[in-house]
Amino acid sequence: MERADIQTHPKTISRQGSGETPPKKHSGHLEVIIEDFELLEIYPMSNELDALIEELVIANKILYNEGVVDGFGHISVRHPSKESRFFIAKSMAPGLVSAKDILECDFEGVIHDPENRKSYVERFIHSEIFRARPDINSIVHSHSPSVIPFGVTSQRLRPICHMSGFLGSQTPIYEIRHTAGETSDLLINSQKLGKSLANTLGSATVALMRGHGSVTVGTSIKQAVYRAIYTEVNAKLQLESMKIGTIEFLTDAEAMATAGMADQHLDRPWALWKEKALSQHG
Ligand SMILES: [Zn+2]
Repeated sequence: MERADIQTHPKTISRQGSGETPPKKHSGHLEVIIEDFELLEIYPMSNELDALIEELVIANKILYNEGVVDGFGHISVRHPSKESRFFIAKSMAPGLVSAKDILECDFEGVIHDPENRKSYVERFIHSEIFRARPDINSIVHSHSPSVIPFGVTSQRLRPICHMSGFLGSQTPIYEIRHTAGETSDLLINSQKLGKSLANTLGSATVALMRGHGSVTVGTSIKQAVYRAIYTEVNAKLQLESMKIGTIEFLTDAEAMATAGMADQHLDRPWALWKEKALSQHG
């Protein structure tokens, strides 16, 4: 086994066939040899958190660079060890976020920060979806422009190509008036509204928010970012296709199959998006 393979998968157990020399302890993290050449690698918690926060920072820059967020929008990641906590940037433009700007928030929407900094008023999108969806570890909220028309018309956003099969057959639309009445500012600025949005999302990967934007969820930062980017791509393609004829959408089975395929290749576009984003906004 290549050492690089081991290092890129913290907290995993790799089983080796007999006769192979197990890797030795080296600086930076601890390797524990169990038995029969099994290897358990344990990173110090702080290193793991640092890496996660760095990934979240990169995700902010990618989403900005790919046109999913602008001065508004946000991405979060569930805390890997503290129950009912997640990380999200302080209230600022995503493209400018750095590691020092990442705050810890709980599921009540309370920020735990010694400097008493504030995060986004719409952090309840994240807290309530994390609460409702234990399978989800990262959430993107954006106002990406091509998606908006599908939240305000009878035209539903549906998967038009193999890169966006994750949309499935349904992209639910959240109607804030059902909870907030007819005079709200359309922001998800309370637990009550966050809960109702999470309820609309249900088990879907994307929910549109009428007259506002969308929310995209994933089991990892990379998956949530991929889905947010390709939700916008799909919307753009669907708008273009509507101009020239009747659209043949993916079937439910095709959507499911292509979503599974895309999940196998998240690292490839991530590497490109990261390189582009850091070269311009690093
Ligand atoms: Zn918003």
